[in-house]
Amino acid sequence: MSRRALAVGAHPDDVELMMAGTLALLKVAGWEVAIGIIAKGDCGSKSLTRAEITSVRRKEAEKSAAVLGAQIFFMGQNDLEIDVNPDTRRIVTEVVRKAAPDVVLTHPPMDYMTDHEFTSRLVRDACFAATTPNYETGSSDPAPALAKIPFLYYCDPLEGMDLFGSKVVPQFVVDISTQMEMKKSMLTCHASQREWLRVMHGIDQYVIEMETWARLRGEPHGFEFAEGFRQHLGHAFPHNNLIEETLKGLAAVAGCG
Ligand SMILES: [Zn+2]
Repeated sequence: MSRRALAVGAHPDDVELMMAGTLALLKVAGWEVAIGIIAKGDCGSKSLTRAEITSVRRKEAEKSAAVLGAQIFFMGQNDLEIDVNPDTRRIVTEVVRKAAPDVVLTHPPMDYMTDHEFTSRLVRDACFAATTPNYETGSSDPAPALAKIPFLYYCDPLEGMDLFGSKVVPQFVVDISTQMEMKKSMLTCHASQREWLRVMHGIDQYVIEMETWARLRGEPHGFEFAEGFRQHLGHAFPHNNLIEETLKGLAAVAGCG
């Protein structure tokens, strides 16, 4: 059976912005990949109603996942209302069980907005809860409990900064240069967000910012483009770096600090 990776973002374009290059490399390595999205992106418009923009963004996310060949899971929460509570934890745990991942990627515990931070916490909880057979998710079609806690990695916070403006140094960066076109193709599927920024700034800000960040992360290591990660190493989570082991010979991984 092939290995599997799941990347979970708070909003419909977060995976593309911070994790899609690495997800695409795992796909090239022969893994099955999946994307989970916790909120609907229903605040992502100044002209459409919440129902209208939700439908637009769902289609954009499906298109992006199809470009990569990823399975996609929607978790239906409202923007700015993602919360760490038993109901949402059950929803996220069910997705982790259904995706049955070896590797999970998500937001870091500290990021520029609480939707991202709570996503991080929910995914961390779900990785643990997914292995507990007596933890029931209430799904009408429940997947079995996982045999092992997956490897959990946190991507960079937005702009690589914590809440106090201090730089967050990743533990390692992945050279995603060969997957930059894929990452860009996926991101541009989110046309509603791209257009909004293009009108506001008069330039293709959406794609430029993503590229600028990936270039900054790669520069110190001699990579054209990179994504940074930190691994969750708390009790019961695996400690070896499965991403680095998997990408050997396919993409360079450089330790930081
Ligand atoms: Zn977001």
